[in-house]
Amino acid sequence: MIVQIAVFTPLRKVFDYLVPQHTLYPLSIGMRVAVPFGRQKQVGIVIRLLKTSDIAINKLKPVDKVLDDRPVFDNTLLEVLLWASEYYHHPIGEVLQTALPASLRQPKGWKIASQKYWSLTALGQTIDPQKLTHAPRQKALLQLFQTEKQLLSDTQITALLGTNLRSVLHTLEKKQWLKSIEKTIHPESSTAISQAELTLNREQQQALQGIIENGQQFQVFLLEGITGSGKTEVYLQVIKKVLQQQRQVLVLVPEIGLTPQLLSRFQQRFTEYIVTLHSALTDRQRLQGWYFARENKAQIVIGTRSAVFTPMPQLGLIILDEEHDLSFKQQDNFRYSARDLAVIRASKANIPIILGSATPSFESIYNAETGRYQRLFLSQRAGNAKKPRIDILDIRSAKPKSGLSDPLLQLIAQHLEAKQQVLLFQNRRGYAPVLMCDKCTWMAHCQHCDARMTLHQKHHYLSCHHCGASISIPEQCPDCQSTGLLMLGVGTERLEESLQAHFPSTDIIRIDRDTTKARGELEQVLKQVEKGQQQILLGTQMLAKGHHFPNVTLVALIDIDQGFFSVDFRATERTAQLITQVAGRAGREDKAGQVVIQTAQPHHPLLETIVQKGYSVFVQQALEERRLLALPPYCYYALLRAEATQEGDALKFLQQQRNQAKKLLLQQTSVQLLGPVSAPMEKRANWYRAQLLVQASQRTPLHRFLAQWMVLLQQGYRSAKLRWSLDVDPMDML
Ligand code: ADP
Ligand code: ZN
Ligand code: ZN
Repeated sequence: MIVQIAVFTPLRKVFDYLVPQHTLYPLSIGMRVAVPFGRQKQVGIVIRLLKTSDIAINKLKPVDKVLDDRPVFDNTLLEVLLWASEYYHHPIGEVLQTALPASLRQPKGWKIASQKYWSLTALGQTIDPQKLTHAPRQKALLQLFQTEKQLLSDTQITALLGTNLRSVLHTLEKKQWLKSIEKTIHPESSTAISQAELTLNREQQQALQGIIENGQQFQVFLLEGITGSGKTEVYLQVIKKVLQQQRQVLVLVPEIGLTPQLLSRFQQRFTEYIVTLHSALTDRQRLQGWYFARENKAQIVIGTRSAVFTPMPQLGLIILDEEHDLSFKQQDNFRYSARDLAVIRASKANIPIILGSATPSFESIYNAETGRYQRLFLSQRAGNAKKPRIDILDIRSAKPKSGLSDPLLQLIAQHLEAKQQVLLFQNRRGYAPVLMCDKCTWMAHCQHCDARMTLHQKHHYLSCHHCGASISIPEQCPDCQSTGLLMLGVGTERLEESLQAHFPSTDIIRIDRDTTKARGELEQVLKQVEKGQQQILLGTQMLAKGHHFPNVTLVALIDIDQGFFSVDFRATERTAQLITQVAGRAGREDKAGQVVIQTAQPHHPLLETIVQKGYSVFVQQALEERRLLALPPYCYYALLRAEATQEGDALKFLQQQRNQAKKLLLQQTSVQLLGPVSAPMEKRANWYRAQLLVQASQRTPLHRFLAQWMVLLQQGYRSAKLRWSLDVDPMDML
């Protein structure tokens, strides 16, 4: 027999291998194998079983080893990945490799971690501990086991006795009073349901009904519900129905920070096993979660982007929350959209998928309008909560100091006096984004990027937020030696300082990447917020995501004006989503909310539409604008990016690729090339970057062209000094 293998390499090819007479396990599609590749051994996945090969039999090499007893990808998942490789024009070997937990990318077998437990033997039961007067530690252990009468792990024993008695355990094992057994660790589950289902309001009821009625086959539901409208409650009730049919559920969220919150809500409702999958896990924990899902030992998987690749043999429903969020798009190497792949996966598995958001992406709304998705609305806040009131604060008249205008300070004081919480949003961490000389024009720039360095006051350094470089703060201007260096602009750290000066006795909690670096830190902070009163929370976009802050009644956006001036055509969409999302944090449950937006552009049409008419109306207007300008979703984009260590090389490379492409495009008038141009931030981390945009009015000719072009590109120049990548459906042009 001959098998076709996708080897884990960046080559856009698959390879034929012979299957030796005797393999450890019978080979089937989706299994991992180790194969000789060049001079090395590589891992690959069997993607086809063949009778013949285009290559002469005596030239074919045999498979070295079959690595697992069963496939690591089921057929549906493998189909999705093959589709993705074609759609994103990314090498199949790398696609499959990306989809596996890190531990399975090595040419090795694997084992699921187990835990050692101790228990009493029949002999151990007959021994009287009181007689062990000369061995007090043995006595303590024996007493423990005779009273507890159950399996205990090393950590449990240490916790119960207050000391580590590992060596004594082994002594007792030798005496055959205790024995040890290995048990595999289980995924998380709760033993009892602690929260009853809520009675749905009319809109929730309609949404639930709509999903269930069409829920037996593939259908995309776009659940558009304002923040606090009870989307999660709808998810929970749909999930319940799916679990009752013995099917599994995959829930995707944009950010790790959202998994603990969701996990605990799920555990209050379901006793099924749940695993969470995200980047903060160790390789071992990831493998374990993956395994439980594949074995159908976990019925619910909650995970971030790459969890879309989790094998789930009984998958019956996919839910993707905050579907507009950019984190679902992988921004390097294999640049897939987990949202779009989730939809493909649902279609191949013939199951429903729910995309939820308070601010759906333009793409999804467009898909709903053209009938591909079914749109469901939740327009009211659930329970007693009311929609917040939004005010615009013109900072041209109310001059803010360190980001805070007087009217805003007064409002903050009022809300704090009423024992409520205030949330301030500033999408810029650090103390000040600019350090400038007061005598000449010098500003602190990053050596490696076309960017300014941000000043961090507390730990006293300048840092580049693009490449991560950091240096100490100079005492004087390097150009003119003036010692008058000005810190311009306001980051979260400066805002914190100035708030503390105004409200010295109030707790201020800052949430940004600088304060939540360590694992679990964000979780801790969020717990603190949940309990607290009279606090000020302040932070970056981490706060804009779906966290619950029941005591917040005032939300202020300190400065949103940068969003109006970006070169990216999607900037207004993002700004509108941000305003709506952040505003949605105000006044949940029974407290009325108020939102304040500080801006120097109070009459900006975008802002007026959002504030007066809401997100949906804004989208209608903005979509019409995109249609007139023939921008996505009314056309399709692919971006070829290149970066080089020498200035100009990336542009030159793209110019050559453009020339090559022209030959392919002779009869293709529906595909156009725009550029190449330097990237808006040309130099980043010492790489000079440029891009070439491919635009098409239809998908099919675009992909036909890209496939041919990639073959030419692959043969072209690639070195340590230049690299390139293709981004299909790019989400940013920076
Ligand atoms: P979303 O996910 O849309 O932000 P949630 O599902 O988290 O909304 O619901 C927001 C709040 O409203 C939660 O505290 C939830 O318990 C409550 N809630 C949701 N549905 C109902 C309902 N039908 N009746 C009463 N309270 C509800
Ligand atoms: Zn100077
Ligand atoms: Zn830099």
